[in-house]
Amino acid sequence: MNSKYVAIAVTTECNLKCPYCQSTGESIPNVQGMWDYNRLREVITAFLEVGYRNFRITGGEPTTVPYLGELLDFLLQDSDVKVRINTNGCDIEKYVDHLSSQTEVIFSVDGLKNVFSPKRLTDELLRKIQYLQSKNISIRLNCVVTKHNSNEILELIQFCSKEGLNLKLLDLSPRTDYQGKIQNDFWNNNYFGLNKLCIPFPKVASEFRTSMIKKGTGIPMSGYSLGNGHWLQIKDSSKKPYYALVCKYCPYKDNCIEGVFSLSLSVGEILRVANCVNQNYWIKLRGLNQRQIEEELKKMEKIFF
Ligand code: SF4
Repeated sequence: MNSKYVAIAVTTECNLKCPYCQSTGESIPNVQGMWDYNRLREVITAFLEVGYRNFRITGGEPTTVPYLGELLDFLLQDSDVKVRINTNGCDIEKYVDHLSSQTEVIFSVDGLKNVFSPKRLTDELLRKIQYLQSKNISIRLNCVVTKHNSNEILELIQFCSKEGLNLKLLDLSPRTDYQGKIQNDFWNNNYFGLNKLCIPFPKVASEFRTSMIKKGTGIPMSGYSLGNGHWLQIKDSSKKPYYALVCKYCPYKDNCIEGVFSLSLSVGEILRVANCVNQNYWIKLRGLNQRQIEEELKKMEKIFF
C-alpha cells in the first residue's frame, strides 16, 4: 500500500479544553476557523494526484466541522485511501454512516480517573467505542501520559487488552511558543518519562519508526502485544526523531520536537512538514490552483524527504 501521508487540521475549534493542547490545535499559530470545504477538496485532489492515499483528519476537533461526513465520503470513494480521525469522541457516533473498514478512529483518552485533561474513558465513551467496533471500524486509543495519570496507566493497558483495543502512549511533548522556544514550566510541572513505565506484556518491536513518506522518519517507538492481534505502541519524544538536511541550519532545531515524519495542512492554507515552526519552509497555498499546489507539494517532498 502507498504510504504517503498527510495530516489535515480541518479546524482550530474544539469542544473541550485540554491543558496540553495549543490553542490552534495542530494548525499554525495565530489562525482561527476552519478550511472551506470546496477549497479543501481542491487541495486534497492535488494530494491524490501526487500519490497520497493516507490521510489523517485532525483539528481542533474534526467532528465540529459541518462537512465532516461529506469529506469522509469524498476521501473514501477511492478504495485505496485510508483515513484516520483524531477525536475526543464527544460526537463521533453522528458520523458512523460515513466510516468504513478504510477508516481508523483514534480516541484521545487520558486515563480512567486521574486525568489531566477532560478526556476520561467513561462508560458512555466505552459504549460509543463498542458501537463502532460492532460496525467493524478500527479503533485506537491515544493517551498522553503525565505525572497526573501515570499511576493508572497499567490499569488502562490491562483494560485495553481485555476490551480488544489498540493503545498508543505518548509523553507530554514540550510546548513551544511557536518561535520554537520551549515553555519549560508547563512541561516540568507535568512531564512523566515513558521509560519509567514497566509494561507486563511481551515486547514485539523495539525502536521502530513509522514510515510515512520516506522509510523510517518518525520518532522511534516500541511495540508490545496485548494479545488477540491488539497492540500497544509507546512514542517517547525523548528519543531522537528524524530531521532533514535543511534542519541542520535551522535556528529552531534545538527545540524542534516532532522531526519531519509527515506533511501537514493547517487552517490558513499552510502546508508544512509536521509541526515545523520555521516559516521559511512553510508553503502558502492560498491563491494557488491545483496544478500549482501539486508542484509545491513535490518541491516540499524534495526539501524534506
Ligand atoms: S522541522 Fe522545521 S523547525 Fe524543525 S528543525 Fe526542521 S526546519 Fe527547523
